[in-house]
Amino acid sequence: MVRDVVILGSGCAGSTAAIYAARANLSPLVLEGREPGGQLTLTTEVENFPGFPESIQGPELVDLMRKQAERFGAVYKAETVTSVGLSRRPFTIRTEVSEYLARTLISATGASARTLGLESERKLMGRGVSTCATCDGAFFRNREVAVVGGGDTAVEEATFLTRFASKVLLVHRRDQFRASKILIDRARKNPKIEFVLDTVVTDILDVRQTEVTAVRLKSTKDGSETIRKLDGVFVAIGHDPNTKVFQGQIELDNGYIVLRDGARTSVEGVFAAGDVHDTVYRQAVTAAGAGCRAAIEAERFLEAEG
Ligand code: NAP
Repeated sequence: MVRDVVILGSGCAGSTAAIYAARANLSPLVLEGREPGGQLTLTTEVENFPGFPESIQGPELVDLMRKQAERFGAVYKAETVTSVGLSRRPFTIRTEVSEYLARTLISATGASARTLGLESERKLMGRGVSTCATCDGAFFRNREVAVVGGGDTAVEEATFLTRFASKVLLVHRRDQFRASKILIDRARKNPKIEFVLDTVVTDILDVRQTEVTAVRLKSTKDGSETIRKLDGVFVAIGHDPNTKVFQGQIELDNGYIVLRDGARTSVEGVFAAGDVHDTVYRQAVTAAGAGCRAAIEAERFLEAEG
């Protein structure tokens, strides 16, 4: 059986593509991937998705999108793609358990925020630990937070967070930044930002209280350790796009899928949406919009082919 549309990924972009493709009678198959529901499942409250004035929990929002897609005939499978064959059509998509053929493919495989790899970080994710200042900054009004990282994202997020937080610690493992000078200069002039350099976060407290109360910091110069009380930790050490299966088959830039004319990739019939392409906005609502665009383009592509 050759399917009209196979969608890889079940976050905001994937499920919105599924809603549109299903309503266009294309019976899309959604392969959920390793993180079903995507990055929204790592957050708690979402206050900036239009239509939810009282806010909504991230996992609930992606669940509603999925139900909406299923209502129109989208089928979700808890499978992760292991390889794709895009050199000829129909495309081949292999998972751990099955193989599918598709006339069009929409990659909404997202990006995963890099994390420090601490057990406490994992347990407190969404409970004071966040990988997105735009999403969660407003929960830290008059609180003290740390931002970890030394790239543009970390410095930009530290500055952004001073709108809410009373104090922002910028914790970086070196004393040289990757971030651009203009961003650093701006941050240095901000009285709410304290630079904590040559330092790594080795633990986040307090897992037992299921909230962030402090961080354990370790100097990379002399190994000395300190505990610093605060209320939130923003990990801003970069993202990794989930594009391993596309390497050598689709044009990528720094690992991210390159798009042309909206949602088209370098391979005809393959479209992409969301954080797998987007290095700039990375929002649920922009991913949803991109998913819509990819599905409409897939539909038009199929129509043009008859
Ligand atoms: P990035 O440039 O890769 O920086 C990641 C930072 O995290 C680095 O400073 C790195 O330290 C640190 N880091 C990585 N792993 C770590 C670990 N395990 N523990 C502690 N620190 C760790 O990532 P990004 O800041 O997200 O930026 C990604 C791209 O988007 C860049 O090209 C950036 O220029 C661009 N961007 C641009 C803007 C803008 O122009 N306004 C805004 C945001 C992002 P080291 O330096 O020691 O390696």
